[in-house]
Amino acid sequence: MKTYKIATIPGDGIGKEVVPAGQEVLEALASAGSSFKFEFENFDWGGDYFREHGVMMPDDGLDAIRDKNAILFGSAGDPHIPDHITLWGLRLKICQGFDQYANVRPTRILPGIDGPLKRCGPDDLNWVIVRENSEGEYSGVGGRVHQGHPIEAATDVSMMTRAGVERIMRFAFKLAQSRPRKQLTVITKSNAQRHAMVMWDEIAVQISKEFPDVKWDKELVDASTARMINNPASLDTIVATNLHADILSDLAAALAGSLGIAPTGNIDPEHRYPSMFEPIHGSAFDIMGKGLANPVGTFWSVVMLLEHLGETDAAQRVMQAIEKVTADKSLHTRDLGGKATTAEVTRAMCSLVAGSS
Ligand code: ATP
Ligand code: MG
Repeated sequence: MKTYKIATIPGDGIGKEVVPAGQEVLEALASAGSSFKFEFENFDWGGDYFREHGVMMPDDGLDAIRDKNAILFGSAGDPHIPDHITLWGLRLKICQGFDQYANVRPTRILPGIDGPLKRCGPDDLNWVIVRENSEGEYSGVGGRVHQGHPIEAATDVSMMTRAGVERIMRFAFKLAQSRPRKQLTVITKSNAQRHAMVMWDEIAVQISKEFPDVKWDKELVDASTARMINNPASLDTIVATNLHADILSDLAAALAGSLGIAPTGNIDPEHRYPSMFEPIHGSAFDIMGKGLANPVGTFWSVVMLLEHLGETDAAQRVMQAIEKVTADKSLHTRDLGGKATTAEVTRAMCSLVAGSS
């Protein structure tokens, strides 16, 4: 029997509630007669670890998880620690250390969920946003001089390399090709950003020639926000830079009904390192410890994790369970207007996945 080694990193806030819930679902799946099992190892990195050790994760932390098959992550964020420390000290350290250059964010309106677009049915909004996850606006290149003086200045350089853009573009075209509509929208801002974004556009044209069966178009990032709302059915797969896709995918999650249901994968498409799966929401300290956290975003992340491991039947089984859970309004958490608790939703998921209800 195959054994998958999974690192769980709950992190901060409600991450500590939703990651164990995701683990329970994986355990229910494995015990339901699957051809594989899981070996979990938990890492208590995050804000509490920082208070004790002065760092969000140990310096040699990457080595501790390097041989895992995948990582299930919660969230990094703590109201008492500056955001740049929680983000760069943990999540981005893993993304960059393992060259997880493709951030993939599926968005759909799940059964039973009312999104803000009232006229929009489940078939009208079915997107996957591919976010460049290793460079661009978040490359970390830049600096700050003359701090505290009247001439203080700071820069954040949006660095894009040809190799970096080519690989994300190829990944996005390939993903678009694998979906029924074979359609890709390349987001850009080359009318105003005259260097890197122009190169981005040129590389899109170049890579498109490798995928003659994929229909593709270009859209400016500002115009694309209006298109997502006015004509969601005109979009399918979307590729954008680190910053642009960060913003667009929060919009996408809101249009799908709640931040609490959206998943994401930080993927190394070449499988050189473990990829990392997480709900897109943050630590949400306002609802922490109350059983109010919606675990569906983590369950959907589990689906992506299983797909990445090549366990497509198991992934489908978990996705079908999610759709049954969301279709049942008595299993909606407060963010969806319901009263169910994290534990109740998790229990229902586990029995569906195990085939006992
Ligand atoms: P961070 O600083 O780590 O991003 P945050 O406090 O900004 O965390 P987010 O997770 O980004 O919080 O979400 C914003 C709000 O949405 C939260 O304050 C919370 O009320 C709600 N929310 C987010 N995720 C969930 C969830 N899984 N279930 C229920 N409500 C959620
Ligand atoms: Mg937030």
